[in-house]
Amino acid sequence: MATKASSKKAVKSKSSAKAKTAKKTVKGKKWVYLFEEVKAAEKYAGNWEGVRSLLGGKGSGLADMTRAGVPVPPGFTVSTEACNEFRKAGKFPKGQWDQQVVAMKSVEKNAGKKFGDPNNPLLVSCRSGAKFSMPGMMNTILNIGLNDKVVDGMIKTTNNPRFVWDLYRRLIEMFGTTVFNLDDEVFEHPMAEYKASKGYKVDTEMTGDDWKALVSTFKEVFKKHVGFDFPQDVYKQLELATQAVFESWMGKRAIDYRRATGISDDLGTAVNIQTMVFGNTGNDSGTGVAFTRNPSTGDQKMMGEYLLNAQGEDVVAGIRNADPIEHLVNNMPAVYKQFMGITKKLEKHYQDMQDVEFTIERGKLWMLQTRNGKRTAKSTVKIAVDMANEKLISKDDAVLRVTPEVVDALLHPQFNESEMKKAEGEGKFFAKGVNASPGAAVGQVYFDADTSERMAKEEKQQTIMVRPFTKPDDVHGMISAQGVLTSEGGATSHAAVVARQFGIPCVVGASSIKIDLEKRIMTVGDVVVKEGEWISVDGNTGKVFLGKIATSAPTLEEQTELLTLLKWADEISSRKDIRKAPKGWPTRGLQVWANADYPKDAQRARAYGAVGIGLCRTEHMFFEPERLPIVQDMILSGTSEGRTAALDKLLPYQRKDFDGLFEAMDGYPVIIRLIDPPLHEFMPDEEKLLEEVITMRVKGETDGLDKKEQLLASIKGLHESNPMMGLRGVRLSISMPEIVEMQVRAIFEAAADCTLRGIVVKPEVMIPLTGTVKELEWIQPRLERIASAVMGEKKVKFEYKFGTMVEIPRAAVTAKEVATHAEFFSFGTNDLTQMTFGYSRDDAERNFLVTYVQEGILPKNPFQTLDRDGVGKLMQWAITEGRKTRPNLEVGICGEHGGDPDSIEWCHLIGNNYVSCSPFRVPIARLAAAHVALKYSGQSIAEDK
Ligand code: ADP
Ligand code: MG
Ligand code: MG
Repeated sequence: MATKASSKKAVKSKSSAKAKTAKKTVKGKKWVYLFEEVKAAEKYAGNWEGVRSLLGGKGSGLADMTRAGVPVPPGFTVSTEACNEFRKAGKFPKGQWDQQVVAMKSVEKNAGKKFGDPNNPLLVSCRSGAKFSMPGMMNTILNIGLNDKVVDGMIKTTNNPRFVWDLYRRLIEMFGTTVFNLDDEVFEHPMAEYKASKGYKVDTEMTGDDWKALVSTFKEVFKKHVGFDFPQDVYKQLELATQAVFESWMGKRAIDYRRATGISDDLGTAVNIQTMVFGNTGNDSGTGVAFTRNPSTGDQKMMGEYLLNAQGEDVVAGIRNADPIEHLVNNMPAVYKQFMGITKKLEKHYQDMQDVEFTIERGKLWMLQTRNGKRTAKSTVKIAVDMANEKLISKDDAVLRVTPEVVDALLHPQFNESEMKKAEGEGKFFAKGVNASPGAAVGQVYFDADTSERMAKEEKQQTIMVRPFTKPDDVHGMISAQGVLTSEGGATSHAAVVARQFGIPCVVGASSIKIDLEKRIMTVGDVVVKEGEWISVDGNTGKVFLGKIATSAPTLEEQTELLTLLKWADEISSRKDIRKAPKGWPTRGLQVWANADYPKDAQRARAYGAVGIGLCRTEHMFFEPERLPIVQDMILSGTSEGRTAALDKLLPYQRKDFDGLFEAMDGYPVIIRLIDPPLHEFMPDEEKLLEEVITMRVKGETDGLDKKEQLLASIKGLHESNPMMGLRGVRLSISMPEIVEMQVRAIFEAAADCTLRGIVVKPEVMIPLTGTVKELEWIQPRLERIASAVMGEKKVKFEYKFGTMVEIPRAAVTAKEVATHAEFFSFGTNDLTQMTFGYSRDDAERNFLVTYVQEGILPKNPFQTLDRDGVGKLMQWAITEGRKTRPNLEVGICGEHGGDPDSIEWCHLIGNNYVSCSPFRVPIARLAAAHVALKYSGQSIAEDK
């Protein structure tokens, strides 16, 4: 073990010229840590996270393995702090080099070899290693410490000239390409020529003399391109290599990688100097890489490859076909057993799947690297669940390891990787844009919402709606399509937001595409896609392809591990007292409900694990073709009697709608919102009608003109200058109570019928757009009377509630009063955000939100992530005040935010009972609810005081 004492001893060694410089200063800041000095690193850095920052992922892993007694070739790490100093000053910081030289002495002692000594030479590798792995950033330099004399000596001692000359040529080559940035080509070309002149096909045919000849050539090449001879001073080699690794941190490749992955420039890279071990000394040696579990499926079986008689990167470079790791048991049973033991230990130690590198030198196993392996979404979930089942980690940890994005990725249909590659190979790549909403979509192109919807509904086609950008009145086209593609806009554009909300794969801002709405084509260069042709849109990568690419649609039912994980998540959320709160308030975590308008949505919501419907919108029920004329008659009739007559005809339809919903949600609460939009939405378009009337007048047609003119007059009468803030919601119900009276009757009749069939119903009637408790005072008793009447008529009893949507700031501010009538609140955060900010969402997203976010005026789009300081504060106040009146007030959220993890966190903190979101987002919300419950486990709900 090289301790501080042995380092000091090394300083005293007089045998090397370099040691003299080392003598001068070893004091001052510590830049260099032997692998054995992990304790000192921990002490300095404070914790393991700090050690990883200081020594990098590779260095900290090597040090940690050394401590655990795993065989690691001796070495040391030059810290990231040294790298950062080097970047500032353009030279090594004071003391670094001396410490490096001292550390070399210690390594020499450990390895029993000497750097630069021809009779017993120590060779080392120089390996980069930042805190986060950055594959391909910088190649490692192997075999440092070889020069002409050492080569001669090694040939004598090993009696293996072929091996030694091969090492030397590798060193010169790597030095040239990595340290002096020469093109690989300058070495590869002469080597190819040499092999051709000998008629060789593979490297293994090269003899010792061949490699020797090539070394001379490589030296000439080196001199020609670099300007001086390949350095024979081994310490010079070490110095140059260290410097090159530091410099590579600011190389273009590394910077690009960091930009793409969000790694900070300030971290710097560490440099690891490590004793070389050789896998290429014969057939009792080898090298390999392995994952302790399958990184793509998560299967609990090691996946790896090895090569006998090979060095370093040969396996990855694919020079020869590598063998699957399980064959090693035949070649070297003892080593295999040891390897399996070590990797198992590493998994246990890091409590995660490991990605390891190893080398076997003359029958002895050495571990060269270990790190948490990268993996797919699927294997992320499987490994987390398996490890919890194996008791390697707790169920809570398993749940915490899976991010909401992983679940999101698992639930959207995916393109098959190899099919995508194949399509690219066949020139079918068309364009790339912003990956706005994940998933894979294949369909026929249509350039407007109406056609897209018609083709989908009537022709039963799979469609892709393509537009320059989308507007609110394109939504019907979008939701009937498999996917959406736009040539303009970014991640917060209307198309992106809507697509995410509905779980539709979407690519936006594919600006290379020119859309010609007249000719009904889109083009990129001279590639033309006509309306009706097939394309494939990948919302994960933002890529668009011509033609169809095979997809696989994952269903939740088939994903057993995910189901298990979500079950564990629910168990966490339902733990008693995970929230501390006053009496009546929820003390478990959040429940997840879903927004669903139709029975089939409700079924999906159940399948995805929702335990209630938080919002059923009723207005679309009025739009169905056979009902709309009745609705229009109702609106047009000037009298209450006329309205009632029309509504009587609608009642059976509505009852049937609700019946299906209650049946699907057997045993769970269903919140039904009474009619919300302004009436003009149910009427024909005013301008179009006017045009028709004028045409008829001009042509002198009279048949039906009267009726049309009447209709036009009524529509004109309904005109409002700002309908969204006009006669709608509860205001409409107070003006024309007949509509909601019919709705409540339909709800309770359906509920009664279901009860009689043995279904457990929990209807909750939601009054929209309340601004003052007086509105509830006016309408609610009338509706409650109907509820009791129906139950009396049908002679059944069941639980029910009346409550309100909180979407107008005034309702939130006066929550204490509102709660005297409302038994529940549901935050309609879409409207509440609009009204709190005073933004019209569609206009804001189209015109200025992107700028606001870019300029940092808003941190995020408040329609996607709840604005805690404003809208969130109002919610918090409303809950605290509301529960002063009614301690067990049920509180939920039904805006788009209900499916957003950050917003879900806020809902937990302020004391919501549940969040409600689109059925597609229910699994994500379940996971997010568990995450927040664990994060704030046992903490008090933040009341607004
Ligand atoms: P990367 O970060 O690209 O994986 P590494 O530093 O891990 O680069 O090294 C590249 C290859 O060289 C790996 O296969 C590694 O196992 C091998 N290697 C590195 N250092 C040594 C050493 N001291 N002895 C033997 N092989 C080594
Ligand atoms: Mg590297
Ligand atoms: Mg490596």
